[in-house]
Amino acid sequence: MRSDNPIMNQILDAYKPMWSLKHAISLMGWDFETYMPMEGTEERGVADSQLHVMYKDLLLNKEFIGLVESAKKLESLSDMEKGIIRVLNREIYKQIRIPKELTEAESLERIRGNMAWREARAKSVFRKYEPHLEKMIDIKKQIAEKIGYEKHPYDALLDTFEEDLTVDDLDKVFDALTPRIHKILKKLVDSNSPFCNESKLGKLRYDIQKVDDLNHNILALLQYDMKRFRMDVSTHPFTETMGLNDVRITTRYEGTDFKKSIFSTIHEAGHALYNLQCDQSLSVTPIEGGSSLGLHESQSRFWENIVGRSLPFVQLIAPLIRKHVSFANQATDDELYLYFNNVKADYIRVDADEVTYNLHIAIRYEIEKKIFGDELSVSEIPEFWNDRMEQLLGVRPTKDSQGVLQDTHWSSGLFGYFPTYTLGNLVSAIIASKIRKDLEDYEEDIKKGNFESIRKWLRLKIHQHGSVYAPKVLLSNTLNEGYNPNYFVTYIETKYLEC
Ligand code: MG
Repeated sequence: MRSDNPIMNQILDAYKPMWSLKHAISLMGWDFETYMPMEGTEERGVADSQLHVMYKDLLLNKEFIGLVESAKKLESLSDMEKGIIRVLNREIYKQIRIPKELTEAESLERIRGNMAWREARAKSVFRKYEPHLEKMIDIKKQIAEKIGYEKHPYDALLDTFEEDLTVDDLDKVFDALTPRIHKILKKLVDSNSPFCNESKLGKLRYDIQKVDDLNHNILALLQYDMKRFRMDVSTHPFTETMGLNDVRITTRYEGTDFKKSIFSTIHEAGHALYNLQCDQSLSVTPIEGGSSLGLHESQSRFWENIVGRSLPFVQLIAPLIRKHVSFANQATDDELYLYFNNVKADYIRVDADEVTYNLHIAIRYEIEKKIFGDELSVSEIPEFWNDRMEQLLGVRPTKDSQGVLQDTHWSSGLFGYFPTYTLGNLVSAIIASKIRKDLEDYEEDIKKGNFESIRKWLRLKIHQHGSVYAPKVLLSNTLNEGYNPNYFVTYIETKYLEC
């Protein structure tokens, strides 16, 4: 991208080495999770932290900050230029306010805490991890104070993952969402809904090579351009973006319950499409890629759940499934549909279905809010967690690995991250409602495997903009909405209760 404004061009030129460092860090991160031999860990750790230091030095270089400061005063900037300044300014603001000692303390605790968490989870003993969680929370509280906030200390942390997101926003979301979803779940369970019957299809062992072929066939159906995209295998699936023309995803093969592999693939491919359909003029700028974690998750959830778990899509891929999964060769479309949409109130968030998923997030949100509001001590977390699980999902963890120890986020210092998963779900349902109104043949198109109009809609409304706009602004501009939970509740009610 070139600008009419010489200051903007200087900024873009100065940003190029920063972008290149990020490019290398992403590539190293992808390699770490996929192909790097195990013994390479320590050396990779050194290289990774050194590149981060170099990045921070370039970002906080006085001359560069001076350029960004002058650009803030410029009038008649385009939306793209304003977006670049907004994103850089946010990053500089946070990096300047957090003292080096705190950043170092956090990286050190991330390594130690993560190791302690792994051990504690394997033995299912929270006590072993407790002092590290205490330490990390203490560091995060200090960071929140340094960043600053208007109302709630947790706001400072939420904003790092979702620009301008506050406790006020999330209280509104969960107050409206949690009781209604809880009620729907109760209805499903009490009425012995067919969605609650576990399918035998999830229990049999599949041929990994054949399901890998199946996943690649599904990506081909979804029209992924393999010249700019690839898929590999890792324990925890993820998407990594090196640039707008090199986006990579991974999937997982556990040997049983093949829906997990298919829907991980579709989920990550949804993330990838956001970056692949970003306007190419934003390439090598600070605003290539998505507007926020919540909006990114809305794209993965849209493809995974709204499209992927819909009956027309199941009908589209059913012949492929029967061909690649030997024990499913007699399964009807309806049997596959019910297997893909099985609802089960259970302990583990990552395995949760779309009905119960947000209840898992509600619990984590309540806990994080209380921690940073000084309303809950670390030693009280496991009990509080189990109580809320029992109230909302009707199951009480009998060991810490089923409850408080299940997620890696806190050990990595990711406080404020969980709520973005729910925002993604809410926005995916808003998109579903709008897209159905705009595209007359939406369901027919899915059934026929014609995704061109859906992809185009997403590109024009969301993807092309990268992070030119902050998430709340983009939502309001293009969808005329905010993080409104009503669409999601209606979607769940219609799909699971009115069938
Ligand atoms: Mg995701």
